[in-house]
Order: sequence, then C-alpha cells, then structure tokens
Amino acid sequence: MTKIGKQCLVIDKRDHLGGNVFTKNVEGINVHWYGAHIFHTNDKTIWDYVNQFAEFNRYTNSPIANYKGELYNLPFNMNTFYKMWGTKTPDEAKAEIARQIAHLEIDNPKNLEEQALKLVGKDIYEKLIKHYTEKQWGKKAIELPAFIIKRLPVRFTYDNNYFGDKYQGIPLGGYTKIVEQLLKGSDVLLETDFLNDIAYFKSKAKKTVYTGKIDAYYNFKYGHLEYRSLDFKVEIHNRENYQGNAVMNFTDAETPYTRIYEHKHFEFGTQPKTVITKEYPNKNPKNAEPYYPVNDDNNMAILKCYKNLAEKEENVIFGGRLAEYRYYDMHQVIASALARTKQEIKNEQ
Ligand code: UDP
Repeated sequence: MTKIGKQCLVIDKRDHLGGNVFTKNVEGINVHWYGAHIFHTNDKTIWDYVNQFAEFNRYTNSPIANYKGELYNLPFNMNTFYKMWGTKTPDEAKAEIARQIAHLEIDNPKNLEEQALKLVGKDIYEKLIKHYTEKQWGKKAIELPAFIIKRLPVRFTYDNNYFGDKYQGIPLGGYTKIVEQLLKGSDVLLETDFLNDIAYFKSKAKKTVYTGKIDAYYNFKYGHLEYRSLDFKVEIHNRENYQGNAVMNFTDAETPYTRIYEHKHFEFGTQPKTVITKEYPNKNPKNAEPYYPVNDDNNMAILKCYKNLAEKEENVIFGGRLAEYRYYDMHQVIASALARTKQEIKNEQ
C-alpha cells in the first residue's frame, strides 16, 4: 500500500516484527523462533513476489521420522515403503497398502484416522501418523478432520521432497529480512496491543487489517475458538552437527516433543556450533500463543457466528490464520492478501 502512496501503520503486541516467521540470529545461525517455516508455492506470481524482498536458497524439505529409533523418510514414498516392508516397486507397495486395509472398507473417510489408513495402510498409520498426530493435536485421530493429513503427499516414487510444489527455499538472511523490506516506509508500533483500544486504533485509519484472533476481536461473545499451541525449547550445542537434517519428527507417543529442528541445515550452515529447537505440544492452549486453528465441526459452528459479524464490518478486513481461522501456509496467506489488496484498490477507483 505504501507503493501506491498510502500511509500505513503496523501494530504488533510483540517486541519484534514478522509474527511467527520471525527469525533470530543465534551463534550466527538464523533460528526460526516460532517453529520452522519453509517457503513453497506452485504459483510463479507469489514466488516472484517474495523474491523481490530476498534471495532464496535451494533448500528442499526432507524430514526424517524417528519412531523409537527406527528412521523413515517423509513424506510417505517408496523409500518409506521399502524401509517398512521391503517393497521395491510401486505395484508391490500399493498391493501391501491395499492388503492392510481391505477389511476396513473405507470409501469416504470421515476423519483423520480413516483418511490416513486409506492412504498408507495400517503399519505406517500406527508408526508414523497416529501417535504423532494425537500428541500434536491433543485429540484422538478419529476426532480430527481428514483434510489435515491430506496436506502430506503420498508418492509412489523415490522422492523425499516433502512438498510437491514447483518452487521452494529459505530466504538468505532469514525471514526477518523479508519483513523489514516489506514494511519499508510504513510506521511501526511494537509492544502495542490493538485489542486494548480497538476504537482508538480504528479511528486512526480509513481501513484496518486485523490479523489477530477473530474471537478475541469480539471479546469472545460467542465463546472461545480452539487453537493448538506449541512450546519451543532452544538449545545451543557445542558441536558442528547434531542430527544431520533440518527437521526430525518423533512419531512415538513417549517422546514428549514432536520435532527437533536444527536450524543451520535450512541454510547449509558451517558454523562451529549448532542451535536446535525442540517443539512440544502445549498442554494448556487456552492461555498460550495460538498457532493452529482446530477446524472441527464445533469450532466451525462458532466461527460462523463471528464471521457473520465480521462481514458487516465496513472498514475492517480480517486476514490470516487467526482472523480467518484457516490453516494457511505462508504462500496461501500471501496470495489471499494480494488478492484482497487488488480488490481494495479497484474498489477505490
Ligand atoms: N503428520 C504425521 N506424521 C508426520 C508428519 C505429519 O502424522 O511425521 C500428519 C499430522 O497429522 C500433521 C499433519 O500430517 O498434523 C500435517 O503435517 P505438517 O507437517 O504439514 O504440519 P505443520 O508443519 O503445518 O505443523
């Protein structure tokens, strides 16, 4: 908006910009402070858009799943099937999956468990999905929507690339650099909570873009929307290489954390030390930082009430994971913001 001569004020209650893509330099390593962010998109317009703010490296996400010390490649692909069953051809792998679920007769998966079983069979579901998912979401897999697991590709090729998208990478210098570039020319107010005085802040602008929790905006009048939350424990290790990969998922029920990130591997770092983050599911998400919307029927019904109110707001745009209550990835949220901006500019003309 500053590009077309508008004045912008960005308000953030934290003491830094960038929300959850914020990266912090620790021991010369860009640490993804609120969990790993790997940029990927199929859309050339979005890729070109982010590349104007930073150069991206060739990082390809290939997480390793660690089930009680057994290591498997992710996403589920021929390498995973070979390790699990010794199958060597796509037909052998497909036959094994079909054999494992034949008796279940799942036509239309109703929940995450059924969807996962249908996609990859019983063994992979038990070792790599069930406990990881239940630990992560604090809910039974049969209580979760099927679409969550559909985010992951299942491939009958030997391809460990987690994302199927054409473009992928990590910005050189960290995401914070992108945010700084993006907000050049805008005014910034940090450590300021918009919700402390909505009327005042709204009066300062013709249009407000609100990216916080939609239920909080309306003071929870229809009740609280549920969000899944995480805790992060950052550790500095006095060695060059801790786990040999940027992301390792711990898929058993006993390990208290879900993932370990080793940040230097996002940028092929060669620093003498290494920084890792252990990601824990937060057990008391009500008062914690919201990270993931829980899009089950209950919450979607509450959301509908808030959305009805939001649609009537004249000068407020609700955008992003928290305000739209959608499990957006970075490229999707950018696409949505750019589309909305275009529409706003058009409306003004
Ligand atoms: N998932 C899983 N095992 C894994 C990785 C992912 O069962 O090792 C499932 C799990 O249900 C998770 C979903 O796939 O919630 C989406 O995973 P993704 O890695 O996309 O989650 P994010 O990175 O957004 O937290």
